[in-house]
Amino acid sequence: MKGNEITAERTESPKTKQEMSGANMKMLEGKKGIIFGVANDHSLAWACAQALHNQGAQLAFTYQGEVLERRVKPLAESVGSTFVEPCDLSKDDNIEAVFAKLKKHWQSIDFIVHAVAFANKQDLEGHFVDTTRDGFKLALDVSAYTLTAVAKAAAPLMTEGGSIVTLTYYGAEKVIPNYNVMGVAKAALEASVRYLAADLGDKNIRVNAISAGPVRTLAAMGIAGFRDMLKYVADKTPLKRNIQADEVGKTALYFISDLSSGVTGEVIHVDCGYSIMGM
Ligand code: NAP
Repeated sequence: MKGNEITAERTESPKTKQEMSGANMKMLEGKKGIIFGVANDHSLAWACAQALHNQGAQLAFTYQGEVLERRVKPLAESVGSTFVEPCDLSKDDNIEAVFAKLKKHWQSIDFIVHAVAFANKQDLEGHFVDTTRDGFKLALDVSAYTLTAVAKAAAPLMTEGGSIVTLTYYGAEKVIPNYNVMGVAKAALEASVRYLAADLGDKNIRVNAISAGPVRTLAAMGIAGFRDMLKYVADKTPLKRNIQADEVGKTALYFISDLSSGVTGEVIHVDCGYSIMGM
């Protein structure tokens, strides 16, 4: 050791290629990933897609059925995507097929956005206690298990590490009228995020969730009393408003980019602060 020089523990995270080159690159230049859950241009998945595309990411999309194909294809084209495939995530063979095609298309991927949920309409009103066995299975399968299914299928393609982001809601933590079985599914989803993060961390695959405040989308409008919820929440949040979909997109960008390189297994609330209020 020379003079007063002291040795210190490394205090900085490893430099990214972008930081090292000092180039004025976009944050996700050269990154490729797949977005599950675009139904239309109001979808939170679409807000995520736009934020990622704006930072240079290449995107693949899936849709369910012909009606959605007609809506999703033009959206995908508008962000330069040439990979738009059907996929019902409740079917294992659909998941296998889409990842096999993705492997041919790109060889490897860097991220996934999972923005998918479903429950029977009659299970999103009235009392949770009335949930049927079939309704429970369906909601938990589509809204929670599918994250594990896609994480398993994606991991071998994430050869350089990766980031998986899902969408959840405060109804996982506290009782929200009419959210019912979806709250239980979101609780399972958030626990899955932690277990998947633990399992996949040694491959440098990070798994995180965004707990979004209410946004008017197709899925949200299926929850009884959703309009009243929007008004109530806007009144109670510290920021005195509802969130915008693009605020979810910006948080997805944080999770998928190197900005969150040390973060995994987390649930971040993007809810204008609603969840911190006790009264
Ligand atoms: P959305 O636009 O209706 O998106 C939901 C998506 O899930 C649709 O594309 C839907 O396709 C897809 N999906 C349902 N079942 C599927 C299946 N078996 N296989 C593949 N895809 C399936 O509504 P969104 O509000 O953006 O929802 C995205 C995510 O955000 C959901 O997880 C939701 O719970 C979550 N979230 C929403 C809010 C909110 O207030 N909007 C708040 C917090 C969290 P189909 O239309 O074909 O069924």
